Amino acid sequence: MTNEHAIGMRADERGHLTSDISRNYLSPAVLERLRRRIALADPHRKTAPVLAPFTGGVIGTIPVGVPADVDEAIRRARQAQPGWAARRPSSRGAVLVRFHDLLLDRREEALDLIQLESGKARRHALEEILDTALVARHYGFRAAKYLRVRRRAGALPGLTMTREYRQPVGVVGIISPWNFPLILGITDALAALAAGNAVVLRPDEQGSLTALWAVDLLYEAGLPSDVLQVVTGPGPELGPPLIEGADFIMFTGSTRTGRIVARQAAERLRGYSLELGGKNPMLVLEDADLEAAVDGAVRGAFVGAGQVCVSIERLYVHDALFDRFAKRLVERVREMKLSPAFDYDADMGSLTVPRQLDTVESHVRDAVEKGAHLLVGGRRRPDIGPLFYEPTVFTGVTPEMKMFAEETFGPVVALYRVASDEEAIARANDTRYGLNASVWSRSVRHAVRVAKQIQTGTVNVNESYGATWTATSAPIGGMKESGSGRRHGAEGILKYTESQTIAIQRGLPLAPPPFIPVRVYASLMPRLLRLMRHIPGLR
Ligand code: NAD
Repeated sequence: MTNEHAIGMRADERGHLTSDISRNYLSPAVLERLRRRIALADPHRKTAPVLAPFTGGVIGTIPVGVPADVDEAIRRARQAQPGWAARRPSSRGAVLVRFHDLLLDRREEALDLIQLESGKARRHALEEILDTALVARHYGFRAAKYLRVRRRAGALPGLTMTREYRQPVGVVGIISPWNFPLILGITDALAALAAGNAVVLRPDEQGSLTALWAVDLLYEAGLPSDVLQVVTGPGPELGPPLIEGADFIMFTGSTRTGRIVARQAAERLRGYSLELGGKNPMLVLEDADLEAAVDGAVRGAFVGAGQVCVSIERLYVHDALFDRFAKRLVERVREMKLSPAFDYDADMGSLTVPRQLDTVESHVRDAVEKGAHLLVGGRRRPDIGPLFYEPTVFTGVTPEMKMFAEETFGPVVALYRVASDEEAIARANDTRYGLNASVWSRSVRHAVRVAKQIQTGTVNVNESYGATWTATSAPIGGMKESGSGRRHGAEGILKYTESQTIAIQRGLPLAPPPFIPVRVYASLMPRLLRLMRHIPGLR
């Protein structure tokens, strides 16, 4: 499909986005509606264009916010938060569940917009819809359970009634990147909102329109006004005031920027959660199902054109399978269809931002110059669109090449031959990153034994990244320099709360009572503790 077929968006009579085959921009009415969701201290900000990766055309413009806009957003959020927090968790959850239903109803317009703004293939945009719905459903129905008041034991049974409460932190600041404009634009906000917080979201400039669309939908689902604020504009300018004013920071992006964010949050003694980069390995063990593993490698390495934090960049294949694996992988990659089509035909879309294309080209050039062997790919494809790059597979990548240890964040994967599980594990762990890994084996026991030795926050067995990501009740995140904190599950919502313990002392004080001399108390209490040590219910 050629570029002039790129689908644009306009509003139908109900104000919903609809595809328009002749355009690749948002209609003024739709842009206006989305831009109403942006917090501005002064409405006359200059604007910046958002480009369509498929064509390089302008989709629309967004205001270039300044620190005063962040302050204004925090002020509004802070005002709205107590009312929202006062609602029962189940009432807040009901908004998320309505959002879930609306998102599934309106998925086609979301798919068009995600593709338009990120340049990803529709099949990869679909993953964003499904995952966002899963998170909305999970916290929509389960938040009340995660947040419920818990009874805790006091020092002495019956004397102290102890309760652990979960209080929202207040205003959560979220900074998200461009690679998952819907998932990263909204799912962390869903968890923070479910916990009773207000949120100030600063999405990446290349992703703001999709994030605004989702925010608009959340308001349509019943979110009270001002509880979720959006500021648009450059990260280095808006990040610092957001970290300065918010009560907790959720950051997703590179390890380099994550360190800057962590330093500033630590200075303020505020909590933060960081989801950072990866150099994710896939281990194909001697007893793996070869065809399934090749399929997993293709999906894992080229999802979102490799611009996915959990995508696979290193393939360690056991010697016994290596030659057949390499041959099948190359065959499969050659069959992949690159296209800017707004349908499910394309196997892979475009890169999203020009600087990512520069990084990919520089890693590939460097590897070729230093003697790596290019099995397939290795070229840009301007004939398809300005940021298209072929899915690329290398062997012979060595430590002096950039691609060996640095995150490429593109459709490039290095294939390595290994002689044993031990070698595969050691090489998989030989990185400063620890985000995601994938292990392939016909024996679950074998795979899990290996998986437990890999230093990553998630390990997918007989899957490349999706099994852990979509198990929304289980935490995901990075070990080592891939992050700090987790999203999803209990950790993914409790991090947006402060625990508060309230203990009520009844009857006797936790001190020698007036009728017992201190000396007697001092000999009684150790005996009592010794006794309690043997009663399981009191430990
Ligand atoms: P980046 O760190 O350059 O930027 C991330 C975001 O931070 C951008 O929106 C940017 O504008 C903003 N930013 C820049 N300077 C800032 C500052 N001083 N304070 C606050 N915000 C600032 O990363 P990127 O290249 O845009 O994104 C790709 C990276 O994100 C990759 O490393 C990828 O692995 C990582 N990522 C991680 C996850 C995860 O869940 N672990 C998910 C997606 C992407």
